[in-house]
Amino acid sequence: MSAEADHVYDVVIVGAGSGGYACALRAAQLGLTVALVERDKLGGTCLHRGCIPTKALLHAAEVADVARDGARFGVQSSVSGIDMPTVLSYQGSVVSRLYKGLQGLVNSAGIDFVEGSAQVTSPTTVTVGERVLQGRNLVIATGSTSRTIPGVTVGGRVLSSDEALQADSVPGSVIVLGGGVIGVEFASAWRSLGAEVTILEALPRLVAAEDPAISKQLTRAFTRRGIKVRTDTRVTGVTQDDSSVTVEIEGADPLTADVLLVAVGRGPVTAGLGLEEIGVVTDRGFVLTDDHLRTNLPHVYAVGDIVPGLQLAHRGFAHGIFVAEQIAGLSPAPVSDTTIPRVTYCDPEIASVGLTEAQARESDSGVTTYEYSLGGNGKSQILGTQGFVKLVKSSTGQVVGVHMIGARMGEQIGEAQLIVGWEGTPEDVAPLIHAHPTQNEALGEAHLALAGKPLHAHA
Ligand SMILES: Cc1cc2nc3c(=O)[nH]c(=O)nc-3n(C[C@H](O)[C@H](O)[C@H](O)COP(=O)(O)OP(=O)(O)OC[C@H]3O[C@@H](n4cnc5c(N)ncnc54)[C@H](O)[C@@H]3O)c2cc1C
Repeated sequence: MSAEADHVYDVVIVGAGSGGYACALRAAQLGLTVALVERDKLGGTCLHRGCIPTKALLHAAEVADVARDGARFGVQSSVSGIDMPTVLSYQGSVVSRLYKGLQGLVNSAGIDFVEGSAQVTSPTTVTVGERVLQGRNLVIATGSTSRTIPGVTVGGRVLSSDEALQADSVPGSVIVLGGGVIGVEFASAWRSLGAEVTILEALPRLVAAEDPAISKQLTRAFTRRGIKVRTDTRVTGVTQDDSSVTVEIEGADPLTADVLLVAVGRGPVTAGLGLEEIGVVTDRGFVLTDDHLRTNLPHVYAVGDIVPGLQLAHRGFAHGIFVAEQIAGLSPAPVSDTTIPRVTYCDPEIASVGLTEAQARESDSGVTTYEYSLGGNGKSQILGTQGFVKLVKSSTGQVVGVHMIGARMGEQIGEAQLIVGWEGTPEDVAPLIHAHPTQNEALGEAHLALAGKPLHAHA
């Protein structure tokens, strides 16, 4: 290994996922010299194993639902089969187009993209094979990977989301272990593609980070779609043979299916990176930072999924941009998890931002809420979807939480985020005109109602 550093960069970034590449692009825009190290593919989890391929799969699933339900709208159509190799090639083509575009962006920004596995050897040095990269600032962006629970090992018929995304046939039956975001998205897609699906969740409700009203509506909708939901259910072990997988459940009969998807959360990718050796403080592998994403060591930052909090690509982007601007001497506003929008792309979709009702009540006894049913929204009725928009208002009048569920409601998150982020009140929103007939009107109507002047809702 060369003892000589081949260059001193302004920033060396380890990991080229959402957090790392966003940091690299912004730093380069600001005139900083950047090395971006990646051992797999530029784009990371989101582009290759996360957001993009799952949403392509969910789109194919939606097409299947539309075809299956055609008769309801007078269109004679049906699903005669799912050609998974073609679904995979559609999914792959979306990923490769975006991958190519991203490679072009990074190349033209003058970023040194270094392929290989990085080891952090000092607060200013990263080694990649024979190369020693010296940086005035170091950004750790190594992301997360799926984890499992004791007694359950991924392999064979036991899949993580990585394997599930590559499945070249639709399983006849699936058990999904974990009713969080990734679990419910796969459950939804597989059900639409024709599988028998059972979700096992140890907590008392699905999507437990959401407002309980959302969990209740989702369970109702999933049950109507024939997805079996078992909450308060603990899995103690798994066995498999050539034809099936059997899941042992505490206090209940075992369950058998063709495959098991393990979706019990994602852990940090920091083992063996050298962080502990150089003195970076971690907690179960997650890197601890202050609200400026600074670790305990000067000029060493962390961004994205390895920082405890929401594990979302757009949080990674925001972290990366924030750190680049900070290093460049600007004074960006810190990224707060509270105003980060969250969308779960199952059917029905879930979109939320800000505080749940219970979170708001922890520090405010004067919280009020309003739930506007999509039953009163013309476009939702045209689509044949059910759901609601729930607003949480603080005692000082601001809307501090928006929680929505229903087909396509993810598309409404932009306005909801502006309202919560800009600390808007229902009275601020009420005069804004929402186009008719759109699902966006439901958000407007909920604010009209909370401002005391409901239109298509009872007072
Ligand atoms: C199935 C699934 C669906 C998802 N859907 C969504 C969604 O719809 N919306 C959303 O916002 N988020 C979604 N996410 C989450 C999103 O993918 C992550 O939040 C995001 O990718 C985190 O970005 P990151 O940069 O922190 O880490 P990653 O994207 O994980 O990138 C880290 C990179 O670091 C590299 N690396 C690690 N160690 C080293 C090393 N020693 N040397 C060199 N390189 C290294 C890795 O190879 C990886 O490319 C989903 C995730 C999954 C798994």
